[in-house]
Amino acid sequence: NLVEIVRNAVADSRQAAPDRSIQLTLPDEDTLLVEADADRIGQVLLNYLTNALKYSEAHQPVFVMLAKEEACARVSVRDHGPGLAPEAQAQVWKRFYRVPGVEVQYGSGTGLGLGLFICREIIESHEGQVGVDSQPGEGSTFWFTLPLATL
Ligand code: ATP
Ligand code: MG
Repeated sequence: NLVEIVRNAVADSRQAAPDRSIQLTLPDEDTLLVEADADRIGQVLLNYLTNALKYSEAHQPVFVMLAKEEACARVSVRDHGPGLAPEAQAQVWKRFYRVPGVEVQYGSGTGLGLGLFICREIIESHEGQVGVDSQPGEGSTFWFTLPLATL
């Protein structure tokens, strides 16, 4: 149940960063079933959240949204960090890529540039998609989709 997975990841993040505001928007549904390894999907969301927290300033909130779409569910994490230039938006999913000279606001993760690479591997192995929408200087929205389970 993706609703549970998202709730748990947000709870973990809030515990790890109690001084930060993490806003969660859930769908009307209590249950959105996906055929997936719950721990892995939780790890993807935690990676997105860790990035959102560490690349935005401490006073800036982070918004997590889970939404049901036609045949899939979409999870997105929006921050008010530095954002990403169009050239960087494709690069960040590559192994070891880090935007040069970016200031880390909140330390955690390996710091190796592996987080998003791993996220993409996990989501694509579940027939889902990853992406980022960003306006440099305004912030970023990292998202992933997963097909809903057909019962
Ligand atoms: P790791 O996740 O392995 O600890 P990392 O955070 O540097 O290290 P990724 O999570 O793969 O690695 O992210 C790659 C790069 O993309 C980051 O170094 C950063 O430059 C950029 N990036 C990731 N998330 C954001 C974000 N929310 N806002 C701005 N830049 C980001
Ligand atoms: Mg990271």
